[in-house]
Amino acid sequence: MTIATINPVTNETIKTFEPMTKDDVMDAIGGAHTAFQKWRESTFDERKTFLQKFANLLRADADEYARMITLEMGKRICESQYEIEYCANIAEFYANGAEAFLADQQMNVNGANAYLCYQPLGVLLGVMPWNFPFYQVVRFATPNIMAGNTVMVKHASNVPQCAVAIEELFNDCGLPSGVYTNLFVSSEFVEAIISDSRVQGVSLTGSEPAGASVATVAGKNLKRSVLELGGNDPFIVLEDADLDHTIEQAVKGRIVNAGQSCVASKRFIVVKAVADKFMDGFKKQMESLKLGDPMDTDTTLSPLSSEDAAVTVQKQVQSAIDAGATVVLGGDRPDCDGAYFNPTILTNVTKDMPTFDQEIFGPVATVYVVEDEAEAIKLANDSSYGLGGSVFTADVERGRRVSEQVETGMMFINQPTQSQAELPFGGIKNSGYGRELSHLGILEFINEKLIHCGSK
Ligand code: NAP
Repeated sequence: MTIATINPVTNETIKTFEPMTKDDVMDAIGGAHTAFQKWRESTFDERKTFLQKFANLLRADADEYARMITLEMGKRICESQYEIEYCANIAEFYANGAEAFLADQQMNVNGANAYLCYQPLGVLLGVMPWNFPFYQVVRFATPNIMAGNTVMVKHASNVPQCAVAIEELFNDCGLPSGVYTNLFVSSEFVEAIISDSRVQGVSLTGSEPAGASVATVAGKNLKRSVLELGGNDPFIVLEDADLDHTIEQAVKGRIVNAGQSCVASKRFIVVKAVADKFMDGFKKQMESLKLGDPMDTDTTLSPLSSEDAAVTVQKQVQSAIDAGATVVLGGDRPDCDGAYFNPTILTNVTKDMPTFDQEIFGPVATVYVVEDEAEAIKLANDSSYGLGGSVFTADVERGRRVSEQVETGMMFINQPTQSQAELPFGGIKNSGYGRELSHLGILEFINEKLIHCGSK
């Protein structure tokens, strides 16, 4: 795959980058391995100084980085600006919290002195997607750097300028060489990197096929792995929900990042008693979205990340239509240049259609009408994915009860699935395993080492 910036607004190739050779990659692993020997001995205070500087530098040039994200993958400029600020927050969260998260833990064993200490594992590989080009890298890299690991990142091939900018930021904050390394390599190189004895683990955020491939190689080589994969998040609307709020959140939840978020709300499961009202309001608001240049602050729906992405969404939607789904809104691409897709609502998507159990990475909502709460939960769980989900109800206790029965890694009441530095993020089933963010995210690539002091 070519490593290149291709503007999804025009489909024009802006800049291409040379991939690294095998020797370059081996040198990079060597550099990360050497750096680990010293980095593991650094104090939390030293690490914290670097990461605080990283956050400051991000904020100082936030506009430049935001424009880079929008240029390379097309999201609205306000979303890119939010992403940069969020990255600075994550860096600060781990800079300030790591020492406490990794403090020795005394074990109570019959009066003997035993404790757990948390030690870094070594060189890690991150394989990252394009949809949040800064955030995905920062949520993997910053906890691991604070934990004393060294990290290498193979970023998605369509966001190379972001990949370079992140590496430069880490260099500019004074981080020793080899603690953070950008690898310009195609995915075919990933197996050789994971298999290298100097590499201790791999974290992949991306699609199921990529996850399965990386997990296979990690398994074969007995390396730790974390997988953050796709989602088909249910958005359950119960009959007592505040519909104005629910509809507003439904639109927001579906079109975040032009629909290209693993935790975007994707399946709208609405109890019959409020289905007509919900659909009426939802359609009106989806219809009023304004497609346009993502650099323009008036635009409310941006293009998808690439022409290929738009073609894929078109194929998924068309396959549902061909199989008998009803188009309530959109269903096609607008007549203009760029990777755009019209806001779309489908109903009558049934279990026999491939689309039923697929993740659609675009502004396409499927709406299902169910009799009651029990049927809503059953349908929500009828998915091979299990990432996030939400339930809308006036009764928070009821929301909790429903949330506990939905098979996902995260549930949100009266709001779409969200990500926050303090909260664990991750899924079950085909959405992957392991957790990122929060105190859990820093423990994934750690040796939780027991030290038991016996009496002489
Ligand atoms: P992708 O095609 O799987 O690519 C993700 C990364 O994996 C890229 O760096 C890609 O490299 C690499 N890759 C692809 N195939 C590979 C293989 N066989 N072996 C090793 N590496 C491989 O996914 P994407 O289209 O960029 O991202 C969208 C997917 O990511 C969606 O399914 C979305 O739900 C998921 N996602 C999940 C989360 C989460 O936290 N759960 C967050 C964001 C996105 P190239 O670019 O060079 O192909």
